[in-house]
Amino acid sequence: MIAAQLAELIGVEQVSGDTEVVAAYRFDRWCLKHWQDWQGEAMETPACVVRPRDAADVRTVVRFAAEHNVSIVPWGLGSGVCGGVEPQPDQILIDMSAMNQVLSIDEDNLLLTVEAGINGLVAEEAVAERGLTIGHWPQSIGISSVGGWISTRASGQFSTAYGNIEDIVYAVEMVLPDGELVRLGKAPRAAAGPDLRHLALGAEGTHGVVTSVTLSLRRQPEMRRFSAWYCADMASGFRAQREVVQQDWRPPVMRQYDASEVARLFPDYVQDERCLILLVHEGPASRVDAEILAVESIMAKLGLNPADAAAAEGWMGHRNNVPEWGDLLEQGLIADTIEVSGTWSQIDAIYDDVVAALKTVPDCVNASAHSSHVYRSGINLYFTFACMPEDASVMGHRYLESWDRALTATAEAGGGIAHHHGSGRLRRDYLHHDLGENGLALLRKLKQAIDPQGILNPGNLLPLADAD
Ligand SMILES: Cc1cc2nc3c(=O)[nH]c(=O)nc-3n(C[C@H](O)[C@H](O)[C@H](O)COP(=O)(O)OP(=O)(O)OC[C@H]3O[C@@H](n4cnc5c(N)ncnc54)[C@H](O)[C@@H]3O)c2cc1C
Repeated sequence: MIAAQLAELIGVEQVSGDTEVVAAYRFDRWCLKHWQDWQGEAMETPACVVRPRDAADVRTVVRFAAEHNVSIVPWGLGSGVCGGVEPQPDQILIDMSAMNQVLSIDEDNLLLTVEAGINGLVAEEAVAERGLTIGHWPQSIGISSVGGWISTRASGQFSTAYGNIEDIVYAVEMVLPDGELVRLGKAPRAAAGPDLRHLALGAEGTHGVVTSVTLSLRRQPEMRRFSAWYCADMASGFRAQREVVQQDWRPPVMRQYDASEVARLFPDYVQDERCLILLVHEGPASRVDAEILAVESIMAKLGLNPADAAAAEGWMGHRNNVPEWGDLLEQGLIADTIEVSGTWSQIDAIYDDVVAALKTVPDCVNASAHSSHVYRSGINLYFTFACMPEDASVMGHRYLESWDRALTATAEAGGGIAHHHGSGRLRRDYLHHDLGENGLALLRKLKQAIDPQGILNPGNLLPLADAD
């Protein structure tokens, strides 16, 4: 019914209710859903999948949905890992991937405008041809869309110098739940009231459908060099990283692996039980040279020993390789990564407490971490856990228990429970830790004001009872 009506409005090619087509959109890359699927659990499919060609199509679909009180689930490229999409049989899934054009590259003002469904790597390659870069390199760059980056408040591997997506975005165009189009952001900076772009950043499809995005570009760096350092433990490494950024050096990449991850990910560079820090230095040659000298002096002063810079160069080469969930499940493992953050004063406790908390989960066979995004005030931690229960049917419990213990331990140590993967259905019941009850109430009021019918991605981001 819905499919037929939409086909009349935007064209039969753009709409499908075909069983195989809708089945492909049952879930994103959330590990828990992959486990359920692997177990053979049935999952709901959307009423139909719509592939708009332009913002006008999106407006038509959203207006139809508002008129008929039908919900919409936006889908970028489906690389989300927190369950941001869980379509139901009475919902329209709006797949943005046909809106994949580069609209303009402005080389004078270093601005790139793209349609929201464009693959991130395709967008990067379009500007790379002209000696430019977006500078946003999530590990998922080849499997995620620019609209998805906005919607999840994504972070790239080079964020320490180039910032996260909120620092790179210039303007956002979005179709609101009533079908109206807003374009937010028109100047390099504005004091024209609150920054409304943030209504799209991190909204995870609950405030509207992002249709185009303008990003602020950079020229490609003149020079790139690598360095690597050993530290006795995570705490001494954090002190060294703090000193580097607080002295105002900005290596775009500064990552610190605990001994367990060094053994697993960098077996050629294991030295005793030491942790490893990898740096990528980029920019004008004179600044890169000066930065390397400064980092050498900071590290030496704090007692860190140099490691082979080839470790950092090697990381660059294989940095986006990750195993598929299915392969791990076949080995009897349920695993995930959990990214959180804290100030320099909190981070030692967060590392110790979360690793300890993960290890208390039955059947835990791995609890480790690295850091990858550094700020003057603090740093993130990216935990990896794996459980290997004999009985595969308890994997889901182990998974949720691991998440619960890690987020609770982070919150108790004062940290932020979500650094860059977003909230989805996985974190929605933990959001109060970051927002506070009043902050959560404010977010609910915003949602109510923007989307009074609650048609945009219901059940996502906000705790369930409050979203409905
Ligand atoms: C192997 C792997 C590595 C990853 N590495 C990183 C990383 O380094 N950094 C990082 O930040 N994340 C990373 N992620 C997570 C994921 O890639 C990001 O969250 C990404 O931004 C999602 O983009 P997407 O286009 O795939 O969005 P989807 O998964 O399709 O959607 C994500 C959410 O955004 C909403 N949405 C998508 N497009 C729109 C739109 N146009 N308008 C409104 N709402 C929309 C959806 O409804 C959903 O709630 C990784 C994921 C994987 C699987």
